[in-house]
Amino acid sequence: MSILQILAPFDGWCGTLDEVPDPVFAGRMLGDGVAIDPTTGILVAPCAGEIVALPASAHAVSIRTAQGIDVLVHIGVDTVQLGGRGFDARVRPGAGVRAGDELIRFDLDVVARGAKSLMTPILVTPMDGLRLQQRRAPGLVSSGEVLFEIAGVETRTTTTPPRAANAPKEEAAAGHTLIVTLRHGLHARPAALLAQRAKAFGAQASLSAHGRTANARSVVAIMALGVRQGDELSIQASGADAPQSVASLVAGIQEALRMESAAGHGAAEGTAPDSSKTAPTAAPRPLAAAGVLGGVIAVPGIAVGRATRIERREIAVAEHGADSGRERAELEQARINVRMRLERVAATGGATRREIIAAHLEFLDDPQVNEAAHESIAAGKSAGFAWRSAIRRSISALQALEDSRLRERVDDLLDVESHVLLALAGEARPMNIPLPERAVLVADDLLPSELTALDRARLVAICLSGGGATSHVAILAAAMDIPMLVGLGSGIRDIADGATVIVDADAGTLQTAPAAPAIEQARAAVESRLMRRAKTLAEAQIECRALDGTRVEVFANLGNVTDAAAAVAHGAEGCGLLRTEFLFIDRETAPTEAEQLAAYQDIAAALGPRPMILRLMDVGGDKPLRYLPLPAEDNPALGLRGVRTALAHPDLMRTQLRAALRVRPAGNVRLLIPMITDAAEILAVRGVIDELEAEIGIADRVELGAMIETPAAALMASGLIREVDFLSIGSNDLTQYTLAMDRGHPELAGRTDALHPAVLKLVAAAAGAGAAAGKMVAVCGGVAADRLAVPLLLGLGVRELSVVPAAVPAIKRQIRSLRINDCRELALRCLDLASPGEVRAQAAEMLESLGDMQ
Ligand code: PEP
Ligand code: MG
Repeated sequence: MSILQILAPFDGWCGTLDEVPDPVFAGRMLGDGVAIDPTTGILVAPCAGEIVALPASAHAVSIRTAQGIDVLVHIGVDTVQLGGRGFDARVRPGAGVRAGDELIRFDLDVVARGAKSLMTPILVTPMDGLRLQQRRAPGLVSSGEVLFEIAGVETRTTTTPPRAANAPKEEAAAGHTLIVTLRHGLHARPAALLAQRAKAFGAQASLSAHGRTANARSVVAIMALGVRQGDELSIQASGADAPQSVASLVAGIQEALRMESAAGHGAAEGTAPDSSKTAPTAAPRPLAAAGVLGGVIAVPGIAVGRATRIERREIAVAEHGADSGRERAELEQARINVRMRLERVAATGGATRREIIAAHLEFLDDPQVNEAAHESIAAGKSAGFAWRSAIRRSISALQALEDSRLRERVDDLLDVESHVLLALAGEARPMNIPLPERAVLVADDLLPSELTALDRARLVAICLSGGGATSHVAILAAAMDIPMLVGLGSGIRDIADGATVIVDADAGTLQTAPAAPAIEQARAAVESRLMRRAKTLAEAQIECRALDGTRVEVFANLGNVTDAAAAVAHGAEGCGLLRTEFLFIDRETAPTEAEQLAAYQDIAAALGPRPMILRLMDVGGDKPLRYLPLPAEDNPALGLRGVRTALAHPDLMRTQLRAALRVRPAGNVRLLIPMITDAAEILAVRGVIDELEAEIGIADRVELGAMIETPAAALMASGLIREVDFLSIGSNDLTQYTLAMDRGHPELAGRTDALHPAVLKLVAAAAGAGAAAGKMVAVCGGVAADRLAVPLLLGLGVRELSVVPAAVPAIKRQIRSLRINDCRELALRCLDLASPGEVRAQAAEMLESLGDMQ
């Protein structure tokens, strides 16, 4: 182990990455380091190594050190758009350089005028075990002065990652075989989930099925195994942390199952609000009449508009490359550019778009695709040719499978292919494709990135001759609420551009030459739908009371600022649970106080005057953090998690609390402690909050709540409530711990039911304690969005429900139809029943008697 010093590449003002006005750098997505506002235009090498990336535009350079560490200097923000104007490279990719060697000259004036900012990140791309230390304090810096040191550097002579064969002697091996019960087998989402988990360990893990083996880090390879429901899957790993890697992959399959069952329950907890709209598929319809095409319903709805086509340009690539070092470097740089761009697009979209882009980023970094591309480059091909042939090889493997869902991923691969080819050509996909008013897009197929670039305000429907109803582009269209038909056949090629068409994506038909009365009728149907929807949404904005006038608050569970906007649009009265974990997991370093404050403040701003209940990080256990060395646990669900992790790592907790206490307006923020088992835990956190409030100068104590997620907390609720201002029942964990059934266990999924009488008794205990103390008791677990559960929870005394944003209008509507006395009677009856099935039957009977037959 040794220490590597990174030197200032030019004179300037040294600051932090937080000052770079680009979320990709400020969010440390490409790595950690510092930023400099340059005062000279000569960039010298910050360390010795090989130039592994220096694009033709010469606005950035990456150096790989002898230890295999990549150091990136990116001159300014958005400078790729200058297309090389003002930059002059003084070295070539592949060159070896010493620290201080001149690499790039740039014209400060030209670049300053054309760039969003000159603030230049100098960063180290993430690698296991590396630590940055001795970071230079903000202030003036001269070229060649030390900016920071990298500790944990292993001295090695090769730049390829160590393989299992080179692993140390104590290398372990582990394995596990299971039957895959996922409804759609290992399709893209579970494959991505597994690949991500595999990458978190040093062990080399592989998956085998049907006599084939796949690298567990490669989404493409996992999908190409073609694993379907009922298939046997064998997981193998070798390396020091092999047992943990295998355990994590098994847990990944369970997590995928959990996601699948959550998605199967519509707006139930854990379902992205917009992806829950994915439509059922219908059989292709025969030609009903002349001028009518039958298709498969991908997103239901009706639209009238003008047939519109968009142009897709073929990207030409030369077969042969210049020299392999340069081609490799260009490919790497193109991938960096694409990654930055996709991450920017993801930041502006909803949960569905983020998920789909996450899948594309997995493809971009897929080890199998990249290895194949690098092999082609070594064989003399150009970067573009190599990338295209590597992607096409993966496409052929998917096309050979019988599984239509996996074949639908071909479009995603094609999307990633074209992103990279365009980046290699120094171009980017246009962010905005203009459309005429009321456009019905007519095409053979459509890529996800094409859809997101279309002008949503003018797009009324999508009609494809091919395509699949469960493709990513269909899921995106559902999230954007755009009616869509697929599989309409080649007949749509005959529709004239600009012709008025009627898309009836409820019936699965496209009328290609409708008469005037039919057009009028369809327009009226569209209008009345819009009005109905507007009414439901408008009613959702009104305060919610039960039929007898009892006030019940309906809040939303949030993970980010996009959810917050959706919550407000759906009439949520506040945020009942902000899962702050999203900020902590999947990163190399802990988020700073400033980063956290900015994220929380954005969400608070989106919520406006509504309250925000911010849950302290619920990490540890099955949500490990890379930067938090927690011991491996035999039973993570019963280990260091929630408040236990926070108390074991006071620095992390203090940083989060400081950020939370600084969110404005202060009175709107309430704090919630997860996984409480006794009052001492609450008092310990309260003590830290009191200290910080005094330090920051906050006079009014922040409101504090405890989560009721363990039977212990529910049984001791009357004591706990003395120490807090409110309780919030986390029914997901409360059910798992009460029934001793893992909430993600595939075979127990049907039995981990929060309406089990034992769980209801604990809810009753907590709600009773709240009523006696005159304090609010909420439910923020998934059961709050279950329509059979709503009357029971109200009957037991719960007066606040927090659900996914999309479920708010329906829950409010339901509460308005209920009388609390009826609910109370139902709840009392159900507490003495013998099984969750009986409870559900009683609740269904009551709702039916009210005419709620949903
Ligand atoms: C719960 O356990 O019900 C809860 C809301 O917390 P999470 O689902 O985030 O564990
Ligand atoms: Mg929980």
